[in-house]
Amino acid sequence: MAPDDELRPASLVGNPCMFTGRRLDTETGLYYYRARCQDPICGRSMQTDLIVNPVRRGEPVESLGGRAHDPEKAVRIAHGVILGACAAVLGFSALLQAGDSRVELFGWPCPMKCFVHSVFGVRCAFCGMTRSFVLLAHGRLAEAVRQHPLGPAMFGYVVLQALYRAAALLGAGGRAMSRIGLLGWIAGAAVLAAILVHWLAYLGGLWI
Ligand SMILES: [Zn+2]
Repeated sequence: MAPDDELRPASLVGNPCMFTGRRLDTETGLYYYRARCQDPICGRSMQTDLIVNPVRRGEPVESLGGRAHDPEKAVRIAHGVILGACAAVLGFSALLQAGDSRVELFGWPCPMKCFVHSVFGVRCAFCGMTRSFVLLAHGRLAEAVRQHPLGPAMFGYVVLQALYRAAALLGAGGRAMSRIGLLGWIAGAAVLAAILVHWLAYLGGLWI
């Protein structure tokens, strides 16, 4: 920079390092700042700052000690957690045995008293669902429906969730998968709404 505010293209004494001690490339007129170049005329860097904006560049900066935000990893964790929960539900359903009014694990009764049922004397929206799941896992559909009419719908939803999450973790993606994901949300909401409607009908004395 000359005293008259004119920008000189190079050092008068042949100094290669100029502003903040950085090397000025006389051919391009840009300062070399290692990871990026700066244009001294408009005063802006030519590249995005990787440290300030790692997400947009898709390069998390883990070496700084800060927790880098990695949306893909978060999605994979969510898939894994839901898959694990579904697998646990289905696994326990297969392990447990359903008695008339209780479930048993290897012949031992499982203490599964429903809070709502024991305090208010009425069934909650999910009363009978555990027995229904256990019966379904053993292929006893008719008895499962008697325990909870929406047991099979809920059971099917859990099975499909597990398959969808497993496919996502195995790398399935694209438009088809996001459409299936959206359908899953709608199906889940529909099943929950049906359970609520059934429960309200039961409370109103319209359903046993
Ligand atoms: Zn209950």
